Amino acid sequence: METIETPERAMLVIPHPDDGESGAGGTVAKWAREGCKVLYVVCTNGDKGSSDPDMTSERLATIRAAEQKKATEVLGVDELIMLGYGDGELEDTSAFRGQIVEQIRRFRPDVLLAMDPRRMSHSHRDHRISGQTALDASFPFARDVLHFPEHLAAGLETHKVGTVLLWGSEAPDVVVDISDTVDLKMHALAAHESQLSTDMTRIEQFAKRRATDAAAEAADHGFKFEFAEIFRRINFRR
Ligand SMILES: [Zn+2]
Repeated sequence: METIETPERAMLVIPHPDDGESGAGGTVAKWAREGCKVLYVVCTNGDKGSSDPDMTSERLATIRAAEQKKATEVLGVDELIMLGYGDGELEDTSAFRGQIVEQIRRFRPDVLLAMDPRRMSHSHRDHRISGQTALDASFPFARDVLHFPEHLAAGLETHKVGTVLLWGSEAPDVVVDISDTVDLKMHALAAHESQLSTDMTRIEQFAKRRATDAAAEAADHGFKFEFAEIFRRINFRR
């Protein structure tokens, strides 16, 4: 396991509102504080995430967009794009991949963060599909001129993403010390009132327990952090 330098530009491909905060919120806040420009691309509107029988998908999507906006403001994210797919409706299509490629070519991230699509255990299909599409978009689609040439015709250039960091991985090999930003992560999570308890003590327990577990995993490799987030790194040759 190793640490990673703060990049200049980072882009997140996020399946549902709140997945970015729970997977990488501390890292995003830390990097943003250190001057990194951050783009959030949230793929779905999370319009099925309710157990309230009186809730409608339309109303929930509106609520969750507002919660996501608030959370990104807490973390210091520079730009938020919501692609607006229905919750559970992501498919590995050329159109979806093209949207991610377009954002890569426009924003030109050094590091892209997404959810690990490969897990032995089961994960939500939006998590798998967003993660796999983010990887495919990074390599080789965003790099090659003959993929989505309409972007080039519109004035964008190809872009090579150097590194992808995957959160939710069963084989993490990168650790980020979030001891100074775990509180911001907690407050960003708290913005998702429709999803999590509004009890700040419980949110704090949830955020800190996971960050402590990650730090314990890194401690096995000699890193002494109080709170951490961990990722699986994929490097693409420059
Ligand atoms: Zn999710």
